[in-house]
Amino acid sequence: MRAPSEATCRPALASLVSRGYLPGQEQIIDGFGRTVTYLRIAITDLCNLRCIYCMPPEGISWLPREAILSFEELETVVEAAAACGISKIRLTGGEPLIRKNLPRLVERLATVPGIEELTLTTNGVYLEQFAHPLAQAGMSRVNVSLDTLDPRKFRRITRLGRLEDVLRGLDAAAQAGLTPLKVNTVVMGGLNDEEVPELAALSLERPVEVRFIEYMPLEEAKGCARSSGAFNFVANEVTRARIKARWGPLEALPSWGERDGPATRFRIASAAGSLGFIGAMSAPFCQRCNRLRLTADGEIRSCLLEGGSVDVKAILRSGGSRPEIMAALRRVAMLKPEVHGSLTGAYRGSMSRIGG
Ligand code: SAM
Ligand code: SF4
Repeated sequence: MRAPSEATCRPALASLVSRGYLPGQEQIIDGFGRTVTYLRIAITDLCNLRCIYCMPPEGISWLPREAILSFEELETVVEAAAACGISKIRLTGGEPLIRKNLPRLVERLATVPGIEELTLTTNGVYLEQFAHPLAQAGMSRVNVSLDTLDPRKFRRITRLGRLEDVLRGLDAAAQAGLTPLKVNTVVMGGLNDEEVPELAALSLERPVEVRFIEYMPLEEAKGCARSSGAFNFVANEVTRARIKARWGPLEALPSWGERDGPATRFRIASAAGSLGFIGAMSAPFCQRCNRLRLTADGEIRSCLLEGGSVDVKAILRSGGSRPEIMAALRRVAMLKPEVHGSLTGAYRGSMSRIGG
């Protein structure tokens, strides 16, 4: 094998240095050889909706305000993450759009050297109001959660929301250039599973990716599902077959790339957009997992469903320096399981606090 020439090394080194690397520093590689390049941050546990697969009608026991990381603390963690090679950040929650002064946070995080992509997952209810300010502040693009196009079903699933607000939010996001726009749909047997061909049709005319997500039985989610009348788990294979039956063969597409791994992508013939299938339960994508999570109360978690965590808030609030936070990120990465556990397990925590 030939050693790379100096000419090929120099640009790579320049890019590392611009991310805050010190010579000799290395990217985060976990115990199974996976490189960590992506951090998902739950910036609040609060939400304006109560989706039946996520929260009980009365909500969860909200965190006290002081338990939530401040903008300064979030920025410090992101700087440390960028300095060890993390280049993509997603803000989630809870509902990130209800965090006060969000565009100001976005402005701060978007300018951290080494952060190449700053994205957001939202229920879309307040997106019409925030799309332009977020784009101006440096947000790259957004994913919008939408499980049905039927206003009454929408109310049944979210318990509190109005479909028209989300649809207006989607238009505003497209106009603001927060693209490629992705729509996230959790498929629930007996609720929206028969509607998947109509949801898939959102990709026909517009360059949107509609992503079908398998329901994950986190502890809280199971309780919510029980209290709201049962729905059944639907495997992606079944969803895909339903879409094919309506729209014909699906053309396989390449994945979006290393940073956006989990979706298997397809296109309905001659559609402007695409379809994605995320099968965390029937086809775990653990082998390609490149992410860590920061919970609303400042815990870095190695995996959504299991694995260990480190309390970064304690490090921050005891005056911890950037190298200590970088060391914490590396420690958590080593706690990532090779593959998440049994499909019938009761997974700890709530999706809204960990950040779905
Ligand atoms: N509130 C925002 C939203 O709904 O987009 C962001 C947080 S939410 C927890 C993030 C994503 O997790 C949403 O797309 C939601 O549909 C998904 N989600 C929540 N609970 C889930 C569950 N039990 N199984 C699968 N996906 C779930
Ligand atoms: Fe709120 Fe998102 Fe959970 Fe729905 S899925 S209750 S919008 S956090």
